Parts: sequence; structure tokens; C-alpha cells
Amino acid sequence: MTLAIVTVMIAGGHADTISVIAANGDTVVYITKTGDCYHKDGCSSLSHSKIQTTLKDAVDNGYRPCKRCKPPIFDN
Ligand SMILES: [Zn+2]
Repeated sequence: MTLAIVTVMIAGGHADTISVIAANGDTVVYITKTGDCYHKDGCSSLSHSKIQTTLKDAVDNGYRPCKRCKPPIFDN
């Protein structure tokens, strides 16, 4: 049990899955004119408007991660 957890942590340090969960503030995300969520590139919610910003700015302005595209979450 303990060994399994440690193995996951070591492997996770190099895996993309970790950066999806927690990313630095410079990560590019997208917001829309009307929504209150931020998105990853390619999300279907961005079909009407798509404004490039950074993860830190999005979070600072009160935007929440989109439930549909699961963008990175700011790890401060
Ligand atoms: Zn989205």
C-alpha cells in the first residue's frame, strides 16, 4: 500500500497528468465574453468567443475551471 503510493508520486512527477491538475500561473487558458469559467484550447464552449488569458489572471478574476474541458487548476 505505502509502496504503491510512493511509486505513483515518483511517476507522477514526470507525467502530464500532474500538470493538468496543477499548473503555474503563466499557463495559457481561454475565457469567454459571457461565461464565468475558463477553458482549455479547443473546448466547445469557446465557439462563440475566445479570449486568451493566463491561468493566474483567470483565477484572480474569479473564473472557475470548466467542467467540460477540465483545464489546469492554478497551484499557488
Ligand atoms: Zn471548457
